[in-house]
Amino acid sequence: MRHLAIIGSGPAGYYTAEAAQKAFGDDIAIDVFDRLPVPYGLIRSGVAPDHQSIKAVSRRYEKVALSDNVRFVGNVSIGRDLSIDELRELYDAVVLATGAPHDRPLDIPGESLGNVFGSAAFVGWYNGHPQFAGLDPDLSGKTAVVIGMGNVALDVARILAKTPAEFAGSDIVAHALAALARSSIERIVLLGRRGPHQIMMTPKELGELGHLTAASPYVTAADLPPPDEDAILEPGVRKSVAHLRAFAATPEDIRAEKAKEIEFVFMSNPKALIGKDKVEAVEIERTFLNHGRAEGTGELRRIPADLVVACIGYRTSPIEGVPFDERAGRFANDAGRILPGLYCVGWARRGPSGTIGTNRPDGYAVAEQIADDVSTGVLGAARKKGRPGFDALAAERGLEVVKFSDWKKIEEAEEQAAREGAPREKFVDVEAMIRAGR
Ligand code: NAP
Repeated sequence: MRHLAIIGSGPAGYYTAEAAQKAFGDDIAIDVFDRLPVPYGLIRSGVAPDHQSIKAVSRRYEKVALSDNVRFVGNVSIGRDLSIDELRELYDAVVLATGAPHDRPLDIPGESLGNVFGSAAFVGWYNGHPQFAGLDPDLSGKTAVVIGMGNVALDVARILAKTPAEFAGSDIVAHALAALARSSIERIVLLGRRGPHQIMMTPKELGELGHLTAASPYVTAADLPPPDEDAILEPGVRKSVAHLRAFAATPEDIRAEKAKEIEFVFMSNPKALIGKDKVEAVEIERTFLNHGRAEGTGELRRIPADLVVACIGYRTSPIEGVPFDERAGRFANDAGRILPGLYCVGWARRGPSGTIGTNRPDGYAVAEQIADDVSTGVLGAARKKGRPGFDALAAERGLEVVKFSDWKKIEEAEEQAAREGAPREKFVDVEAMIRAGR
């Protein structure tokens, strides 16, 4: 029997568990750890609350979680409750599926002004992540600037633009729904340092902006390259650019029917955030492309901003003793191997890119490597203590471990508390989650 510890119960974690089950059959016991008492990582706290069909993938993870040789070990934080070395002593293989929970910094003056947030914090706020539930953004101003032109920027812009009725059927948390209902934001600027051909937004998600009740997307036609240049684009990007062209072609009187506007501002690099205590403006520098990279022209201007959300990517949390690639913001690894018996997967391995589904082949690849390392002797003989060893340590340290059956009670309580038409009302506090699980 081999013992596998997976740290992180998001998509990368559960796909790895699924793959390890297939690779080892009954010869493996898998513990999936999470620092929160609730599973599914970004499915719960990253995927937008109005994208419930994406969240449905958690049913597949639940199947894995409920199988005999897989166990959920919630409310246990590696680094706080036990060290990575202790874990490696107990398990034959440890897989870090910890994602990338920290915002990449903008590294510009004014970043610490009030009402400036990174997307991990802002998305965590409307999704009820306990760490960010108390963020309390001030939505009383008129203009929000969302930095970045990826899918997270799109999520943030859309959430800021939606009416309360458009959140029907979503699991947006009550505090965010109430704050958004009171919001005065009427202009949302999406700021891209490169051009329309370089956006990272995918077509389906971008197209949603054209169907909002109270907001219309606005693209300046002159910012778009000549249409025949679209021919060289990858099909997905070409479709996204087609949406931008449709937004640019929308007549002004049609746009004016909606009270809010989502404006795309291209070729503009944020240089500084301006304000006394709270942000008031973003200073941007016009850019040009040099071999695909945005370079400054020296031409500066300011756009007003009452709220700034930087959606420019994420970093993995380093763990003491685990080699870390500072520049890339993830664990230093060779195709998922960090050290003998220590692996990483998902965003912790490759950085914050790809969709939920990208984590599946990642999980299968790392399970295959573990199987190889068992068969070639890299992992040594099977004599680690595994689960019983961890349970003894947890008892000795008085850890309050949350089991999958406890999570099911938390889930039931969240479903019972749901407002009409919503799938759940999430607990946003760790203690409340633990109480419900008890
Ligand atoms: P992303 O796709 O990498 O986009 C990041 C954006 O930030 C890019 O436009 C980038 O511009 C810009 N940026 C980076 N550093 C910057 C800086 N210092 N100043 C100004 N702009 C900067 O990342 P993401 O939006 O965080 O998404 C992460 C991953 O999750 C992606 O793979 C995404 O597709 C996925 N996701 C998917 C969905 C969905 O499918 N519905 C939803 C959310 C997220 P450059 O291109 O110039 O670097």
